[in-house]
Amino acid sequence: MKKTVKKQEIAKAINTLENYYKKHRKPTIRRTSQTKDKEKAFKTLIACLLSLRTKDKNTEIVSKKLFSVADTPKKIANLPIKKLEKLIYSSGFYKNKARTIKSVSEVILKKYKGKVPDTESELLSIKGIGRKTANIVLNFAFNKLALPIDIHCHRIPNRLGWIKTKTPEQTEKELEKILSKKYWREFNSLFVLHGQTICKPRSPLCSKCPINKYCKKVGVLKSR
Ligand code: SF4
Repeated sequence: MKKTVKKQEIAKAINTLENYYKKHRKPTIRRTSQTKDKEKAFKTLIACLLSLRTKDKNTEIVSKKLFSVADTPKKIANLPIKKLEKLIYSSGFYKNKARTIKSVSEVILKKYKGKVPDTESELLSIKGIGRKTANIVLNFAFNKLALPIDIHCHRIPNRLGWIKTKTPEQTEKELEKILSKKYWREFNSLFVLHGQTICKPRSPLCSKCPINKYCKKVGVLKSR
């Protein structure tokens, strides 16, 4: 019985967020995956790797710059590392990111004939691809049921009181149990947007939050 109530509460909160963010631009990685580009799976993957620890706007600028020079596994694998570093410099952690992007491209080129694999086990077998990135590619680029959990998707359901977890991996498992599958497709984009605009890591804007009345504000010590 308790689970049913919870599912109803979750549905109301998510529907409210969907309405609220209807006219907002979706995060860069989501938009990258919604093109008809035949390299969209590869571009989604690379944009996701570039997005680590940087702002969305930055991911957009750097992805565009990189893809204007190299937008296939072959082209990126053939780029000299110094040139790749220079192209993605402003995304931060550019040395690590350049190494990862180059080696991921080389594996996709050699082992998968230039095509991004579409299974979780194959994606996770590639060094540099973690759970969140694999799930982003599966969900966004291949339309498969997967829940990509980043810091926002981990933090907000905990604040709402839906789950009580310590890591994104635990969050993924708990959300799989309580989140209706019809919400899996857009869950990540919605919660990333909410985390970037209102439910910020420090001092969330609770007074402006459209789902305030559904939220238990667990662990929120200071809000605006
Ligand atoms: S009420 Fe505050 S803590 Fe809860 S979801 Fe909204 S912004 Fe986040």
